[in-house]
Amino acid sequence: MSKNEYQERADQVWAWLNQWMSSVFAAVSLGTLSVNGVGRLVQRQVVFASLALEQNPPEMPERFVPIHPSGMDVDFPVARSPSEESELLAVMRDVADRWKRLQGDAVVCTRHGLALLDAMASGVGLAFEDESESIVSLPQYLRTQVALQWAQEDGNVQLVYGDLSGIQKYIFRTAYSGKGVAKKLRARSFQILLLTRLVARFLCQETKGSDLQILMSAGGVFYVLLSPSVTIETLRNPIDTYLFSEFAGELALYTGTVIDTTIEMERSFSRLAQEAIQRAREEKEHPYMQQLQSHGHWEKDRMIRTQTGTTPRCAHCQRNPIREAERHVSEEERLCETCRALEELGKRLPHIHWISFSREPKGDFQFGVLGSVSLHETRPSVMEEDWFAINRPPDCLETDTIFWMNHYVPTYQRKPLSFSDIAGKEPLGYFKADVDHMGLMFAFGFSDDNRSTTSLQEYLALSETLDRFFTHHLQVLLEKEFPMVYSVFSGGDDVYLVGQASEVIQLATRLHDDFLRYTGSHPELSLSAGVAFVKPKQPLFKVTHDVESYLELAKEQPASSRRTRQMGGRNQVSVRGIPLEWDEWKRLLDMAQQVVNFLAEGTLSSNMWYRIMELVHSVVRRGNGTVSLQDGRTYEIFPKLDYEWRRNATESRHQPMVEWFRTLLALPDSDAVWIMENWKVLELFVKLISVRRLTQRQERGTFHG
Ligand SMILES: [Zn+2]
Repeated sequence: MSKNEYQERADQVWAWLNQWMSSVFAAVSLGTLSVNGVGRLVQRQVVFASLALEQNPPEMPERFVPIHPSGMDVDFPVARSPSEESELLAVMRDVADRWKRLQGDAVVCTRHGLALLDAMASGVGLAFEDESESIVSLPQYLRTQVALQWAQEDGNVQLVYGDLSGIQKYIFRTAYSGKGVAKKLRARSFQILLLTRLVARFLCQETKGSDLQILMSAGGVFYVLLSPSVTIETLRNPIDTYLFSEFAGELALYTGTVIDTTIEMERSFSRLAQEAIQRAREEKEHPYMQQLQSHGHWEKDRMIRTQTGTTPRCAHCQRNPIREAERHVSEEERLCETCRALEELGKRLPHIHWISFSREPKGDFQFGVLGSVSLHETRPSVMEEDWFAINRPPDCLETDTIFWMNHYVPTYQRKPLSFSDIAGKEPLGYFKADVDHMGLMFAFGFSDDNRSTTSLQEYLALSETLDRFFTHHLQVLLEKEFPMVYSVFSGGDDVYLVGQASEVIQLATRLHDDFLRYTGSHPELSLSAGVAFVKPKQPLFKVTHDVESYLELAKEQPASSRRTRQMGGRNQVSVRGIPLEWDEWKRLLDMAQQVVNFLAEGTLSSNMWYRIMELVHSVVRRGNGTVSLQDGRTYEIFPKLDYEWRRNATESRHQPMVEWFRTLLALPDSDAVWIMENWKVLELFVKLISVRRLTQRQERGTFHG
């Protein structure tokens, strides 16, 4: 596409969008929600409502997106509005008023128009008049139509799937040297987010297209629509060269493409996406083919990275030479260009609300041929095409395009706290979680008797709705209620957090509760999580490995209580390697809290608690680390405990505590038996109690140094 063709395409797309909206506004001004030749505007159901893997899914109550978006947090599902029609008309009249005032060239108007719909009409659905009878989100429908129209030639489009591989290793390599990890870790995962976006933008811009063609871009993965005449291989060369020189082969881009009609792209997106992913995988089998092989010859000198001679290595990444200016700095603090920039990024990240992308190297952070990025705390006075607001800040307008992300990290006097400061006197809690069965959901979650694929609108609705939970909602939650939790990364359908143990314990429960509420307690959507507690000085890459294996365990190994019910893994939380059902985890927490309360009140003395633990330990010791419920002697502790109460808890103030323990111990289905059934659960119980006791003693919110 030439420059003129670009302008022509921009004008066409805007003319179409403006015309389409005008017919909606015309209908609305006549007081009707039916738009001729298109369909009818309705309050839309949440995307989860039409999601089902089973043939005969259980009936779910209807759940709708609120007609008036809150803007401050994600919208949780509500019942259908009793005054649906008048509310929808009011919302669309407001949109019409704002739409009239859109200003700028065709590209700016298109961007602002789409942003306006996202901000004001996210609860509005479009019910088609055709036989499909499907309902889609109005803002999202128009966004995908714009992308398709920008990219299409003669009714065909090319889907490009991109995957940056090596991300995990790249992000966590930072942890090899402990100092200042907190400052750089989030910066690294943010850098990946930006890099992904920049690669997607580069593909669009190099083909004289627009970033409106980006369907999705998250940490390391993107989908872009391009013209079918574009050959991706030519576009890849400068990107691969940049990645190779900047990341020394640690990060690599793989792409897969597929060409089809715009109609098929909309209708069978999941099938085409799967094909593109498969092609990217095939490329992965032969890494750096393109990079190293030019004109059929291997370029030998490219395979050997230039050595840096006698220049000292960076103390942080231990790979790059240090900056010339840092020669006088002490050895353990000398950084390379990249690590110094990342440190700067890490310091500013918690405070930024605006972000801009440029192809020129004029921004704060450079990405070679891909361009640069600038970060700002307030809304810039001159808005260019490539500005984004992060999570709808207070100085944001309805026409600003939003970049959703969770960039929360604990700070003190605007500086990110170190992991030791975050922990305080407690251990550090590590929490890693993701949504179960997501691959299956995207591929088959919307299938029915007539089709076995997921449409473009459904695919994006599901991925964006989940992403909003792990970006926007989590950001709000951490800011308001869990200030001592650090986001390593969160978005898409997964999350990795590090924080003060007591807050991480609470957050695990809260996040699970919110997830249920957000998905309308969908019977087939669930969350699995791994939790670890460690001392702050432990190397991050090791703990990350542990907490990942716990998450794996939560997905693979059923809790002991599930075995008799012949259930598998998933929808569980695995704490220190013990898989538990979410309800069991909550029950255990409640019990631990109760014991802590008794200890704090003094109705349970430390001595008495010590003797109880001794009794239990004696049972465990006899069983060589396991508790056998077949062994009759196991039950001897019950009368012994009862004797303990009779002798030492005789005053009336002891009564609630004694009652509580008697209920806990009531046979045959006692919680005590469940706790003892697995020695490790008991260990966890004691651990939770000790963390809770620490929390109660700790003076919170003060930091020195
Ligand atoms: Zn470095």
